[in-house]
Amino acid sequence: MSLTPDRLNRFARHIVLPEVGGTGQVALDQAHVVLVGCGGIGSPALQYLAAAGIGQLTLIDSDTVDVSNLQRQTIFTPADVGRPKAEVAAEWVQRFDPALQVNPRVERLGRDTVAAAIAGADVVLDGCDNFATRLLVSDACVAARIPLTSAAIGRFQGQVASFAGHRPDQPCYRCFVGDAFDAEDCDTCAADGVLGAMAGMVATFGAMQAMRVLLDGHAALGDDPQFGRLHLLDGLKPSLRTIAIVKDPDCTGCGTP
Ligand SMILES: [Zn+2]
Repeated sequence: MSLTPDRLNRFARHIVLPEVGGTGQVALDQAHVVLVGCGGIGSPALQYLAAAGIGQLTLIDSDTVDVSNLQRQTIFTPADVGRPKAEVAAEWVQRFDPALQVNPRVERLGRDTVAAAIAGADVVLDGCDNFATRLLVSDACVAARIPLTSAAIGRFQGQVASFAGHRPDQPCYRCFVGDAFDAEDCDTCAADGVLGAMAGMVATFGAMQAMRVLLDGHAALGDDPQFGRLHLLDGLKPSLRTIAIVKDPDCTGCGTP
């Protein structure tokens, strides 16, 4: 597998990086990322995933574009208001790089549909707006043995972590948050507010951590995919600190049955 001269030019700044290189770029080209949510996290994240030459993107969102989204959901314009976010996002990717394969899914994930929606992914990047979907996606990733990168924001606090809960020594997202949030909706942006640039910071960090996972075994940036480490971004200070998440042996998502 090699890249065409056009693609070599397009990704020249990646390829020259020793941490990515030609081998890493080919791995990105061969990768399939499933993005859950095309909103405040998903919209900037998918721009960087597409720009990185991720070969296949599945974009999942049940929502339509609202005028109040434009403050942070960077791919949408006033002309898109009222249209499904996943469809508009897919059109953005196709305009940006027609060589990428993009699969829009206008749906809210449920127990019956989540396995099919994430099938074949090399990593799932979750930037959705509620705990119920996050836990559903996490459990499905563990079952399908797919790594999960989770990116979330609340006001000026960002959280980014990658999980490989299917591995016996690695926690899953549910080990981190527990079962308490299964039914709770955490979409507090409308009430609490969110600064657009802060959402962008967390989103692009999430995209980068997902790329680390994709480069695991292919290029030096993936030498440590940082599974089970939670990066906490404080946008006000600003600061970044990292804590380790411990696997819960009784976890209903990834524990020993
Ligand atoms: Zn777990």
